Amino acid sequence: MIDLHAHTTCSDGSLAPEQLLRAAEALRLQALAITDHDTFQGYEQAAALRRDGALALIQGIELSCKLGRRSAHLLGYFLCRRPAKQFEQWLEAQRLHRRQRNLQMLERLRHLGADIALEEVEAAGRGLTGRPHFARLLVAKGFAQSYDEAFHRYLSEGAPAYVEREAPTLEEGIERIRQAGGVTSLAHPIRLRAADEASLFRSLADRGLDAIEVFHPDHTPADSARYLELARKLGLAVTGGSDFHGEAKPTVQLGSVPVHNECLEELRRLGRR
Ligand code: AMP
Ligand code: ZN
Ligand code: FE
Ligand code: FE
Repeated sequence: MIDLHAHTTCSDGSLAPEQLLRAAEALRLQALAITDHDTFQGYEQAAALRRDGALALIQGIELSCKLGRRSAHLLGYFLCRRPAKQFEQWLEAQRLHRRQRNLQMLERLRHLGADIALEEVEAAGRGLTGRPHFARLLVAKGFAQSYDEAFHRYLSEGAPAYVEREAPTLEEGIERIRQAGGVTSLAHPIRLRAADEASLFRSLADRGLDAIEVFHPDHTPADSARYLELARKLGLAVTGGSDFHGEAKPTVQLGSVPVHNECLEELRRLGRR
């Protein structure tokens, strides 16, 4: 059993890196990729606590990108070498963009009479503070009646406190991860709601995408079958994982999405290029 997609408290998961590591050991997973959003901190903390044993711990990332105006997630796996320093610096800049955007949204909210502090919203969002945390806080403080109303009144695109988030395009993400020595997989493609998946995947493959995340809890068996066929047709590798977030997403268990060990072997082959 392997799981190539999991989050820790360093982004938006509810298990600390050590807890996630021990959970994977208890399940006797053969491989676990820690793929926090835009940070390696969770992987690094877990890697320092690893015991030698049967579990292969994989350094991964889930990069927040854009496809047109839609947000798109790109998985990166560093299987054969550590990511280039330059890439880590670039990631730091991405995290800074998010923080600056949060400050801008707070400023707008303050002008709208909804005064909340950065510390409060960051306490809720930890390593990945974004609009959902703003929305919950606005409700908790009585500035909105409900989560949906918080979005409608303040936070949704076009609402007065909305600030667009700077994020790389998928193409840039693919190139950055590749240059840093990693292998890329398009995360949960169902969420892109692409009108023409085949041509999207083809154009990303042309830009250097290595794999498609075929197996994911958001995919029906029919979705996975379709993605598997498309991957084969386009010569792309296949990945999968539970996208485990712990209590933050309680219906999904670690290791609950079946993924063949060959998927990982193929990624390793690609990683040696
Ligand atoms: P951010 O990355 O800070 O822009 O936040 C994006 C997240 O906000 C999405 O993943 C959704 O969970 C949530 N979200 C975005 N728009 C809405 C909306 N109109 N109503 C409710 N939740 C939303
Ligand atoms: Zn997440
Ligand atoms: Fe994702
Ligand atoms: Fe994820």
